[in-house]
Amino acid sequence: MAATAPPDAPDQSDDPDPSAGTRFRPLRARAERRRAAKEEAEDEQWSRRQFACASCGADLRFDPGTESMRCGHCDSVTPVPHVDDAAAQFENCYHAHLDADTGALTQEEALSLNCQGCGAAVEFHPDEHSRICPFCDVAIVGDARLQRRIVPQAVLPFTLTHDGAHDAMRDWLKSRRFAPNDIAKEAEADHFHGVYVPFWTYDAHSDTDYVGQRGTRVGSGKNRRTVWRKVSGNVKGPFDDVLVSASRSVSAEFKDALAPWPLRELETYQTEFLAGFRAENHTVGLQEGFAKAQDYMRAVIADWIRRDIGGHRQRITSSRTRYSKETFKHILVPVWITHYTFENKTYRLSVNGRTGKVYGHRPFSMVKLFAATIGLMAALGVAGFMISSVPWAG
Ligand SMILES: [Zn+2]
Ligand SMILES: [Zn+2]
Repeated sequence: MAATAPPDAPDQSDDPDPSAGTRFRPLRARAERRRAAKEEAEDEQWSRRQFACASCGADLRFDPGTESMRCGHCDSVTPVPHVDDAAAQFENCYHAHLDADTGALTQEEALSLNCQGCGAAVEFHPDEHSRICPFCDVAIVGDARLQRRIVPQAVLPFTLTHDGAHDAMRDWLKSRRFAPNDIAKEAEADHFHGVYVPFWTYDAHSDTDYVGQRGTRVGSGKNRRTVWRKVSGNVKGPFDDVLVSASRSVSAEFKDALAPWPLRELETYQTEFLAGFRAENHTVGLQEGFAKAQDYMRAVIADWIRRDIGGHRQRITSSRTRYSKETFKHILVPVWITHYTFENKTYRLSVNGRTGKVYGHRPFSMVKLFAATIGLMAALGVAGFMISSVPWAG
């Protein structure tokens, strides 16, 4: 029977289950091999990410605001090896990488789970039992999959600590207008998850020929009208570090909501910065990201054209842009995420892991809103009374 097995079937003599039918052995063997390969890749991924304390062997964790990792068990400190930061700011040629669809970039297999709630591809350790999506707080079920991804070249390491994120949240809640009085004190925050979120940045030079119309207002009173004259011209200019989210999950909203991101402070990617933190894998490819960057560039170019046309009003009939010197970077930025509960309702809140800027959902105090509305109406009423009591106001 074994002779019917395909040539790639392994030696079957070590099959631990002698009762299994030989007919199924090749399939079983293949599944076995796949599982072994997956486990090996998983181990490799996490051994790249895990650093053991030299004193006690416990896992080290990157210590925000420092250039080192700290042992949670014995508190000893291990510096992150210093590397040249030139690589962090290196601009990769877009077209050179596009030909092979990013084939020239360093890629790796990363084990991640896709959240059914928000679409994030989040990394989890194979041994983790509780897999809660840090973005949407939904339990993630299913098997982790190995996904190919481009290794980020640069990272903004966390500088804001876990406690710092907590303080930023309290300050933010305290400063909200029309928020319930006791919210900063009463809001119960879950643990803050530190997550590195993937972005693309694009540079390009643009050169645009356009045809349009310049509108000039002439005349006055009833004879007032706009005279249109056909114009054409050329505008050109550079774009630097146009930021695009490399994810389709909720983390895409952090790009603007938690901006600005201090991109000049990027450091060359080292796995030590990620020790103890989660990372989201990119789900938006290099090309798709550039298309999004061009949407932004087109809007800016349209502004340049309108300014170039001048006059009182402008119309753009057609335009053609040539892009050159297109380059890109793939980076990770740090975000603290939590969900807090207030009066039995849950709200999501995120904090920029560099600047402490907060973005979140929050409750409103109906009492305060009502009081403010009454106050406004009273003020308008008084103003209305004053106006109507002025004799010449009729
Ligand atoms: Zn230790
Ligand atoms: Zn999610």
